[in-house]
Amino acid sequence: MTLNIILLGPPGAGKGTQAARLEEEHGMVQLSTGDMLRAAVKEGTPLGQQAKAVMDAGELVSDEIVSGLIGERLDALGGDVSVIFDGYPRTAAQADALDAILAARGRKLDHVIELRVEEDALVDRITGRFSCAKCGAGYHDRHKQPKVEGVCDACGSSEFKRRPDDNEETVRTRMAEYRAKTAPILPIYDERGLVTHVDGMAPIADVNDAIETILASAG
Ligand code: AMP
Repeated sequence: MTLNIILLGPPGAGKGTQAARLEEEHGMVQLSTGDMLRAAVKEGTPLGQQAKAVMDAGELVSDEIVSGLIGERLDALGGDVSVIFDGYPRTAAQADALDAILAARGRKLDHVIELRVEEDALVDRITGRFSCAKCGAGYHDRHKQPKVEGVCDACGSSEFKRRPDDNEETVRTRMAEYRAKTAPILPIYDERGLVTHVDGMAPIADVNDAIETILASAG
């Protein structure tokens, strides 16, 4: 059975972490518009050049751009792959676009999983996070240092990176954007009976278990 699920929650809620686990454990594919945009910025494509300033400010890139990216990525994947939308949709217009994108490809939304977190904890989570520049494994200054200082546990690389938008000022803007534009799409999905809430403050393994239970519950 092909699943289409959305992980919804403010920046730092753990969407990317959980999506990575679902990829590993179920062969699902994570579709993160943030990752796609960061790749475009790194490659210096016209899209990346346009998006960079908006991302650095913590504001939202246009609905057309991100929905276009999602459509392209789904087409490249083919029909029989289960997907996790991470960081998309972020506005009501994107939620509408996603319905159309899925319907045009014979897909439908199965679950919207909201990761609930306390905002104060998010600033701490986000401003301390960094990742391996080679394999992407995630770390944290205060909560998850590599076992050997300066060496990635997963691949042994000694190069790490931080997101330029993971500073306190930008994080506050990203949260305000979430409250103003993204949180209002939850009631729309709730009316359709798609939403399940998960405590995003719980340990990573517990959040993962809660998501597994939701996925096992029905299609
Ligand atoms: P993320 O990695 O999901 O935190 O996204 C990083 C940044 O990319 C956001 O702060 C936005 O500037 C941009 N972005 C990612 N996904 C979207 C989206 N669905 N709609 C608009 N902007 C997005």
